[in-house]
Amino acid sequence: MKLDIVVPCYNEEKNIEKFFTEISYVLKDIDINIIFVNDGSSDNTLNEIKKLQNVSYISFSRNFGKEAAIYAGLSKTTADYVILMDVDLQDPPSLIPEMIEHIDDFDIVATRRVTRAGEPKIRSFFARLFYKLMNKISDIELVDGARDFRLMNRSVVDSILELNENNRFSKGIFEWIGFNTKWIEYENIERIEGETSWSFWQLFKYSIEGIVSFTVAPLYISTVMGIIFSIISFFSIIFIVIRTLLFGDPVSGWPSTISIILLIGGIQLLSIGILGQYLAKTYIETKNRPKYIIKEDNF
Ligand code: UDP
Ligand code: MG
Repeated sequence: MKLDIVVPCYNEEKNIEKFFTEISYVLKDIDINIIFVNDGSSDNTLNEIKKLQNVSYISFSRNFGKEAAIYAGLSKTTADYVILMDVDLQDPPSLIPEMIEHIDDFDIVATRRVTRAGEPKIRSFFARLFYKLMNKISDIELVDGARDFRLMNRSVVDSILELNENNRFSKGIFEWIGFNTKWIEYENIERIEGETSWSFWQLFKYSIEGIVSFTVAPLYISTVMGIIFSIISFFSIIFIVIRTLLFGDPVSGWPSTISIILLIGGIQLLSIGILGQYLAKTYIETKNRPKYIIKEDNF
């Protein structure tokens, strides 16, 4: 069995060697090729990678993000089986032998965390909320706690590469392509060195990205809101005209008028914002820029 392992790395100088030692130990009987993708690290990550024997690497000209790194790594794979995993050992290499056992019966063997220990409570809360919302309003079914850590056969990898959009939301892409998946569960592990590069704000933007990439439900919702408010205002205009004709016009009701203006103004701005999100994504896609720029590699 030949196995390619794609590993995105961003400022991971302390983890490269530990990762390599551990993976080589766990998979010593298998013919593996590790493809490190250095995602524009500002530390010594690239030199740490170059110190290793018999590994492949790609190095970007700047930080393009994990999604771009995944795409770049996958597009360099040639083996029949491919593993995607993080370098911080949060994706335990010890699970790989078990994953390999299942790959004959499934197209994908993926992993999911059943606990979120070690993560801030508020972050877990919003993550759960996002999964619920996403599953309600989109056609894809995201699995709570699903990691990017997965073993895939060739046709799965080729399908992922065929979705070559710029706004990449891998969790959605992995589900969208289908195929049958075996889930392996494990308890959350904290990264060995360094810190997560995801801030709360970045996660928020990432979740908007996910929604906009995989469903147009928000556009639909704003259309429905527009229709409802048009109907309400139509009837209230009739009501006011009749009331004025019957009882005259006692000038009162200023607060209610202002509240209604504010409410409708808010909904309009929200709707334009939603529209803008989709337009912005369309704009970026139509530019059709490369997803990343390679400065250096050893292929
Ligand atoms: N990573 C990357 N580019 C980035 C951010 C992260 O290639 O811009 C890599 C990082 O080196 C790690 C993986 O993606 O191997 C997951 O990142 P991290 O551990 O920060 O995320 P978390 O595990 O907290 O979701
Ligand atoms: Mg991590």
